[in-house]
Amino acid sequence: MPPIRPRNVLRIGPVQVATYYDSRGRTKHTAACTAPRCGFSTDYDSRAAAELAARTHRCPAR
Ligand SMILES: [Zn+2]
Repeated sequence: MPPIRPRNVLRIGPVQVATYYDSRGRTKHTAACTAPRCGFSTDYDSRAAAELAARTHRCPAR
């Protein structure tokens, strides 16, 4: 994994939303489920989209 620094980490249910700078210095927003059997992890262009995905995630592992 590249050395990324998560910022503004927010947890909504089992899903963590975090903002990163990628290797090109661009901001990206990731929603990642922490449930071990889920595997949900998606990048979004906007923080709002990532938080919405976290709130609406229906975790199959929960
Ligand atoms: Zn999940």
